[in-house]
Amino acid sequence: MLQGDMMDRPLLLSSLIEFAALYHGEREIVSRTAEGTIHRYNYAAAGRRVKQLANALRRLNVEEGERIGTLAWNTYRHFEIYFAVSGMGSVCHTINPRLFTDQIAYIGNHAEDRIIFVDLPFVALAEQLAPQLPLVRAFVVMTDRAHMPETSLPGALCYEDLLTAESEVLEWPTFDENTAAALCYTSGTTGDPKGVLYSHRSTMLHSFASCMGDVLGIRARDSILVVVPMFHVNAWGIPYCAAMTGAKLVFPGAALDGASVHELMESEAVTLSAGVPTVWLLLLQYLRDTGNSLPHLERVVCGGSAAPRAMIQEFEEVHDVRLLHAWGMTEMNPVGVVNTPKPVLEALEGDAKLDLMAKQGRAIFGVDLKIVDDSGQELARDGKAFGALKVRGPWVARRYFQRDDDPAFDSDGWFSTGDVCTIDPDGFIQIVDRTKDVIKSGGEWISSIELENIAVGHPAVAEACVIGVPHPKWDERPLLVVVPSKGATPSKEDVMSVFAGKVAKWWLPDDVVFTDELPHTATGKLLKTELRQRYKDYKLPSA
Ligand code: AMP
Repeated sequence: MLQGDMMDRPLLLSSLIEFAALYHGEREIVSRTAEGTIHRYNYAAAGRRVKQLANALRRLNVEEGERIGTLAWNTYRHFEIYFAVSGMGSVCHTINPRLFTDQIAYIGNHAEDRIIFVDLPFVALAEQLAPQLPLVRAFVVMTDRAHMPETSLPGALCYEDLLTAESEVLEWPTFDENTAAALCYTSGTTGDPKGVLYSHRSTMLHSFASCMGDVLGIRARDSILVVVPMFHVNAWGIPYCAAMTGAKLVFPGAALDGASVHELMESEAVTLSAGVPTVWLLLLQYLRDTGNSLPHLERVVCGGSAAPRAMIQEFEEVHDVRLLHAWGMTEMNPVGVVNTPKPVLEALEGDAKLDLMAKQGRAIFGVDLKIVDDSGQELARDGKAFGALKVRGPWVARRYFQRDDDPAFDSDGWFSTGDVCTIDPDGFIQIVDRTKDVIKSGGEWISSIELENIAVGHPAVAEACVIGVPHPKWDERPLLVVVPSKGATPSKEDVMSVFAGKVAKWWLPDDVVFTDELPHTATGKLLKTELRQRYKDYKLPSA
């Protein structure tokens, strides 16, 4: 092959903070700190402090490739750690402090974290974990001398003391763009958490793609409130996108309630924000209760779980804010699809428009998508057929960190997402279930989520869960498990009436059982594995 004659400059994350400091030095980074104050500085100052931190890491003998953990909320110091650690060629491992302590200990040891940066609210948690993390050489408390707590953490260092001692001069090292930059663990409902090791290249290409007009459309004039935690897939990559474009950054710290989020949106003239549906439900509730509005906000990115249709509608019609529904996962750096309109669909109105906006989004350049049936046969992109979603691309993982042979990675180069969806002719996907939750009846699939969504539409149903139970003829059939609304005692027939005219007859649950409570995971998702176990011998009337 004839080689091109262009420069082979590696895609390194240090170039992002260099760019922001040089060309957008005056642009602000605002944080609500753990100390309870609002902190302001700009990209120029951040650039200098990132270099001081990188020099401090060198003094602490941090080596290339070593994993450096963080237990922290979204603040400017966390932002500095992102760039200093990766810039030096070591790996920034953001730990989710909301996991169970045993899971965090497992993750810290599996990652072999050598230093852990700890935000003030997590000092007690770190103290609890420390005896279980023998590989950690030092804990750095992310505060200044005046706020340094009494702590039993072995070798506790003060973040600001570390920086003060260092020079603002540093030449960033240059290395291969496939070098690891960051590490995140994903925790499912079963088994040990799995690590995904991002490279400089994957994160950089993901940032270019995320900034595109038809993806998140991030520009210098944006002011971005980063609600999604920096320990959740690098805050969906937004800190990197902001540095790439010079957008203003607003970090909310630990305060994610409606009033606090709204206050920052007002005071910092926020135009774009990103987070999971729960945060937006809290914000909308707050706005309804107080009569406050969102004069600056233009768009909110919503992902992590499905955005309810009513929420999309309320943002659009009451607040003139476009909700950008997005789907992705830890294994994908994380953005996979985003719901932005195509010209041919712009004329849609009313229900048709909402139906489209409720889909997770359409393929973006860089992510290949396909849906397959049980035998691996690719299914039609007709918006009706649904199958297991597979993806591939330069920001999709090819294996889990220090864990080979996971069946999710195909020999032909695709990753099985574990999600079940449709793809319509315009490329929009709609998630209908998880592969392990979909009900396999007579060779056909039934969406448990769709049945649950219909069931909760019944006024006497507070919560609903649909699982497949073994059936001698059909393999599996759906069983509906219902928590009745307070004070209600509906009959099975009454509950079943809610499905009339809404689904095909063969989709109807074979039976209904009532219970006081449903099991949930640490992150609030329905724990269907436990329910399947509970009802594995359940005798369906049809069996
Ligand atoms: P995580 O790796 O923790 O970010 O979880 C990724 C999983 O969250 C995906 O595989 C989906 O099952 C789910 N998910 C993410 N975004 C959405 C969305 N917009 N709608 C429905 N499910 C979603």
